[in-house]
Amino acid sequence: MGRSNVGKSSLLNALVGRKGLARVSQTPGKTQHLNVYALPAGYLVDLPGYGWARASKANRATYRSMVQTYLKQRDTLRGVAWLLDIRHPPSAEDHEMQELLVEAGRAVLVVLTKADKLTQSARAAAIRSRARELGLAADEVQPVSSRTGSGIAELGESVLAALAP
Ligand code: GDP
Repeated sequence: MGRSNVGKSSLLNALVGRKGLARVSQTPGKTQHLNVYALPAGYLVDLPGYGWARASKANRATYRSMVQTYLKQRDTLRGVAWLLDIRHPPSAEDHEMQELLVEAGRAVLVVLTKADKLTQSARAAAIRSRARELGLAADEVQPVSSRTGSGIAELGESVLAALAP
């Protein structure tokens, strides 16, 4: 899960190595489905992106309640990969989502997307900043780039480990 435009579709495609599996969004905020991808090791569930500027208050409440219910009640859910853009501090809605994740007691992989957009030194600084803003250690957040492929194999390993029986 992650806010719309965070790079979720691109990451899904990079993770499974298939271009065009998940549709890279043209109209952010439009997709309201849970898309489920069957992998040999289990299922990846793609939650709709949140934080769409034009979403109404009612839309936001519905979204929040859907995610809350899913996180709390989906017994077979093994963990959540939560995507944040490496360049930006978490938004108010990101913090709200973090609260839902903590409340649900789910195992969370924090994934920092679009790492290629920063130079190596800016990236290291951004990793420390994002971790601090989230109350995590720097090694609890994983930088990735769907564009260059950096961090994708490591993320794949983490996902497979979470799915392992
Ligand atoms: P979604 O709305 O979260 O599914 O995000 P998309 O995958 O549709 O990506 C949103 C925009 O960010 C698109 O223009 C992508 O090309 C771009 N993008 C996604 N991942 C990366 C990345 O790793 N590096 C760079 N430079 N751009 C990315």
